[in-house]
Amino acid sequence: MSERHAGAPGQVKEVTSLANPLIKDIKALALKKFRDQQNAFMAEGLKLVIDALDLGWQIRTLVFAKAGRGNAAVEKAAARTVAAGGTVLEVSEKVLVAITRRDNPQMVVGVFSQKILPLKEIRARDGDVWVALDRVRDPGNLGTVIRTVDAVGARGVILVGETTDPFSVETVRATMGSIFAVPVAKATPDAFLAWRKGFQGLVAGTHLQGAVDYRSVDFSKGPVLLVMGNEQQGLPENLAESCDRLLRIPQAGRADSLNLAVATGVMLFEIRRGALKLEPD
Ligand code: SAM
Repeated sequence: MSERHAGAPGQVKEVTSLANPLIKDIKALALKKFRDQQNAFMAEGLKLVIDALDLGWQIRTLVFAKAGRGNAAVEKAAARTVAAGGTVLEVSEKVLVAITRRDNPQMVVGVFSQKILPLKEIRARDGDVWVALDRVRDPGNLGTVIRTVDAVGARGVILVGETTDPFSVETVRATMGSIFAVPVAKATPDAFLAWRKGFQGLVAGTHLQGAVDYRSVDFSKGPVLLVMGNEQQGLPENLAESCDRLLRIPQAGRADSLNLAVATGVMLFEIRRGALKLEPD
């Protein structure tokens, strides 16, 4: 490993060996056990890394491909990483392929500290929309929901029960950067039910047996908590009973149900309908 100057004097380490311990630690982030041990996760792409830095996320390591040498934006991100106390690694293509497990990896990868919002800090105000996901299993669904929450200007996501990891590589990829913009809280079902009692607004569950058409509800007053069920089992009884209303999205055709992320998207655009406007050119 050698060191050289690149916008962050003396701080950029060149790495070409997969046996390098820093690289081994980053590769290990593919597994939840090591993400939890290190309390860290990986995000790919220069734009994502810059957005994360702008939003105040703690960067631990910035990894960039040799091709990024001399690129002003990469050098600036490197300097910001060093200023934040992080490490900057310039690596070979082979190392980047191994870290990302992709044939055509992005030029930049960032390793960040995980951040979970404590449930007790969520105090919803008028106009706020929160989404609670019951035992979400699929990383693509979770990432897509986080991205959609961001897109509609909802406040955040509460993960209830045993769920897929919001910081897995697959989830982070599916969020397309929204993981850095959307607060995520985690709760056991009991903790969620206790917190829900203090929620001063409409708790809208979605259910295939729901008696109410989701388009007939006035979501414009007060905060809304949208509660979505598990992909295989839907909402369990105790969560369903805790909702003020159980809403259904009418369907035609042979499909039993909508995909979780699609159903969440349909609901969120309805709930936020009045708040979303096209920007004039
Ligand atoms: N077999 C599951 C069931 O019986 O509920 C299907 C679950 S569905 C794939 C995942 C979640 O998306 C549901 O729990 C519900 O929250 C929501 N969902 C999907 N389609 C819906 C619909 N037509 N109306 C209301 N909610 C729906």
